[in-house]
Amino acid sequence: MKKLIETTLNSLAHKGLDATPKNYAKEFYTKAEELNHEVEDLKNFYKVLDTLGQDEKKVVQEKNIKTATELIQILKQRVKKADISRFVNHMTTLMKPSINQEMYSKIDEMILELSNKPEKLLEKRTLETVEELTNERIRLDRQALREKSEDMKKLTNIITKYYDRSLIQSDNTYDEIITIKGELEALELSSQSTRELTTMQANLVDTIYKLENSIEKNKIDLIKGQNESNDLHKQINELEEELIQLQKEKNIDFLTGVMNRRGYTSAVAKIENEFTIFQSNYAIVFYDIDNFKNINDTYGHECGDVILNIFATILKKLTREDDIICRYGGEEFVALIHYNDENEVKRYIKRVKEIIAQNKFIYNNEVKLLVKFSAGVTFRNKYESYEMAVKRADKLLYDAKHSGKDKIILDEGTTL
Ligand code: GH3
Ligand code: MG
Ligand code: MG
Repeated sequence: MKKLIETTLNSLAHKGLDATPKNYAKEFYTKAEELNHEVEDLKNFYKVLDTLGQDEKKVVQEKNIKTATELIQILKQRVKKADISRFVNHMTTLMKPSINQEMYSKIDEMILELSNKPEKLLEKRTLETVEELTNERIRLDRQALREKSEDMKKLTNIITKYYDRSLIQSDNTYDEIITIKGELEALELSSQSTRELTTMQANLVDTIYKLENSIEKNKIDLIKGQNESNDLHKQINELEEELIQLQKEKNIDFLTGVMNRRGYTSAVAKIENEFTIFQSNYAIVFYDIDNFKNINDTYGHECGDVILNIFATILKKLTREDDIICRYGGEEFVALIHYNDENEVKRYIKRVKEIIAQNKFIYNNEVKLLVKFSAGVTFRNKYESYEMAVKRADKLLYDAKHSGKDKIILDEGTTL
């Protein structure tokens, strides 16, 4: 009251008015009215302050806000209820996207409640619920992802088996495909995967079913192909053997079965090598059947062939494995005989002469013939080259023919 009287008197003085009872009464009522307003204002200020949230109260304290007018500035910063409603409406879009949908009904429940009372969104309890639901949803999503990837692993394991090279190459491919198909059908996918993976599972079973049929067909083709390839392999082997045989025969004289001139040439090269490197001595013996033409003329060419064959067979029999017998041409044969001592060659040639002389060459079970031959013998180590040794042997044979036939002349002049 004292303050009101003071204010009234000050105001009158300020306005330059006299403190007449009339003036005083008028000013007193004006000032009392103003003070009343201030009191009202103050009451409202504390009322509003009470309804503020913690953060807002903090701002009021910090900014030292004392009047309702100042407080309005804070309240103006508050989110409008309409905006909160709009936000609540959008919460579905914000909260629902999820792999696991178990949470959907709980989220719906909360959003419905907030739609009716959007202001509740800012309440501590609501915010806690939003946080709980979000955490739970994340947990369930992680779990769902784990289960789905487990299912994918199961499926890919089965498919990997299918593409296993050993399976494709296996004889039992068809049976194994059936097993895999069974495994795939029996595969228990988690409830999480039912939506996407069961379709995939069904497609895979379908694919394998188709493959199963084509593999069965391919298997038949494969076995057929394998058999054909086995046959082919056999044929190739036979051909190879024939070729080896042919190669041999190419070097063999077909009438007598001993080496021909072609085979002889390569045999000489080999023996010459051995002679040069290992000094393995050998003798060259040139044979020529005496008066062979007469045999042909008398008993026929066919009989001559038989005689040639028997003569070659005897030579072959009396010759060691690493020695050479060759039909040099017509009724001429050449032998390359290894020796350590020249006497071995002499013994050999004597033995040939004996056997041929004793042997009755029988043709057609009736013709019995005695065959004679002449020969020229040289020792390779006494000549500079094979050619010279051969030439000399040929010459000695010629000499034997021209000195009465049925003769063997050795290069040191010995006649047997
Ligand atoms: P020489 O005692 O001087 O050796 O007289 P030869 O009659 O044995 O020798 P010649 O060279 O005069 O005659 C060889 C004959 O050998 C002539 C040829 O028709 C015959 N002849 C050559 N090759 C074959 C053959 O493969 N089969 C037969 N049956 N005779 C052949
Ligand atoms: Mg001759
Ligand atoms: Mg002759």
